[in-house]
Amino acid sequence: MISTDDAPGIEWIKEKTKAADYHISEHIIRDFLTKKVTIREIEDAIANGRIIEIHRHPEKGACALLLGYAGEKPIHVMCADDQDGWLLILFAYVPARPMWKDPVNRVKEGGKGMGENLNKCFFCGGKIKQVKVGNFDYRLEGNLYVVKNIPAGLCMQCGEKYITAKASKKINRLIEEDRFGGTEEVFVLKYEQ
Ligand SMILES: [Zn+2]
Repeated sequence: MISTDDAPGIEWIKEKTKAADYHISEHIIRDFLTKKVTIREIEDAIANGRIIEIHRHPEKGACALLLGYAGEKPIHVMCADDQDGWLLILFAYVPARPMWKDPVNRVKEGGKGMGENLNKCFFCGGKIKQVKVGNFDYRLEGNLYVVKNIPAGLCMQCGEKYITAKASKKINRLIEEDRFGGTEEVFVLKYEQ
């Protein structure tokens, strides 16, 4: 039995979800766009879910990782209590390799990892893979800036990205030298249609 003293409990999470007393994080909007998971699937998974892990952060408190099913599809939902009556749904994803052997068990981590790079996500404990990130998007005073092809550590679970000191120096230099060039088409979805 997992001790959930300081983390949101399963019954509370279910109640809050049923009452729509929740907020989702921006990570989940990205999941909608990439069609990884829908809000209906998240709600379904919570309705029949159970807590499989508790993650504790020194400053942010405890989060509960819940496993539930939307039909046949296993879904993990990371839940937190904002201490003000809201359920926060931080991440939702389908557990799969290379992180998860099956919906309940993580793949055992071998050795100490690569040494030079982070191998565990600070936010969700997920495994980090070194990749080249196609696009980093930033909006500033009405303009959208895109930084392309940055080598980064990508969390395979929540999508958080980590950039090395070396790469960060290069990016900062390119920005200072105003080396922006080119434009791209942007697709806009209006919430108020
Ligand atoms: Zn992560």
